[in-house]
Amino acid sequence: MTDLATSLIHHSYQPPPGFAAPQPGVFKASTVFFPNVAAMRHFDWKDKSAYTYGLHGTPTTYTLEQRLCTLEGGAQCLLLPSGLAAIATVALALLKSGDEVLIPDNAYGPSKALAEGELAHWGITHRFFDPMDPADLAAKISPQTRLVWLEAAGSVTLEFPDLCAQVGICKAAGVLCALDNTWGAGLAFRPFDLAPGAQPALGVDISIHALTKYPSGGGDVLMGSVITTDERLHMQLMLCHMRLGLGVGANDVESVLRALPSLALRYRQHDETTRTLAHWCLQRDEFAQVLHPALPQSPGHAHWQALCGEAPGAAAGLLTVIFKPTYSQSQVDAFCDGLQLFKIGYSWGGPISLVMPYQLESMRSRWPAHLQSGIVVRFSIGLESAAALQADLLQALHG
Ligand SMILES: *Cc1c(COP(=O)(O)O)cnc(C)c1O
Repeated sequence: MTDLATSLIHHSYQPPPGFAAPQPGVFKASTVFFPNVAAMRHFDWKDKSAYTYGLHGTPTTYTLEQRLCTLEGGAQCLLLPSGLAAIATVALALLKSGDEVLIPDNAYGPSKALAEGELAHWGITHRFFDPMDPADLAAKISPQTRLVWLEAAGSVTLEFPDLCAQVGICKAAGVLCALDNTWGAGLAFRPFDLAPGAQPALGVDISIHALTKYPSGGGDVLMGSVITTDERLHMQLMLCHMRLGLGVGANDVESVLRALPSLALRYRQHDETTRTLAHWCLQRDEFAQVLHPALPQSPGHAHWQALCGEAPGAAAGLLTVIFKPTYSQSQVDAFCDGLQLFKIGYSWGGPISLVMPYQLESMRSRWPAHLQSGIVVRFSIGLESAAALQADLLQALHG
């Protein structure tokens, strides 16, 4: 190997071992080299003791997976290109034609759309249950039910369900339950240990997390995770994940690894600012209802209090208001347009506050009895000061 082109590619230099710095190195690979043919035949990536192909894992992805297991109290983790891909992979891995999946009526919208679209096409049926009535969930479990989705707090309207009762019902019926844990982020409560001290532990079977939100923290990465504590269940999910060819880019993993050390601090700050604004909103007479699990008036407050406690960091940065019915859609739209610091956009968990008006009629099977009628607006509270955000809300309301 004397020519320059070849020797630059097949270079013999190896950096000395022992480099240590706050952030782990970022390894990018599709191809992974084997030391010899015997090793290639022998290596098995499934227990993460070896590397075989970029899609099957690198030191970078294994590192994030382990940190997320620590965050959520799980044992095994899969990374996916979005939170929605995590939801879809759980369905694809566990459901077949003839099976039924139960979904809370206030679930993340695209999760309901997946059931109504692809799952229905493939002969998998679904039913929506009332997230605030465990008896309704119990009544809807049938011999065809293979999977129950749970979400706390609910999407947009932030009702907090009796998660322990819901999980208990699934366990008693022998049906797998999967939680969309994006709101709790591994911080507000422990998804695999909902009732500390309970024997056996009371927890969900699967926790999915849109890392796009708080773990990324920047509004600039899309990623999802699927975490389990049961090795067999993980294997079933992992083989489906592998066969579907779902992987994540090393640079995106690096972004999440870089943001994780500040996750708890950021989450707590989002929570504190959001509670301040929620209490301020309660005093305003533009709103018929203010939805936030820490407000005693908010649906499911007692369940939130029992599961999460009340300490700072026990709730996320989401806040929803329902305008009084005297406010027309165009007045509410003008309020949203009039905000300066709050940007109009989907998602949450980043530094910039966001606002989004919703047409709840088109999102729910029926208007929930615990909600006032009126136009629904959700705020995702960023990391700006509470005073600045409050002033922005005030000027937009007066506008
Ligand atoms: C955003 C979100 C998702 C989906 O995450 P993406 O990465 O945007 O696909 C799923 N569940 C909840 C509760 C979310 O807020």
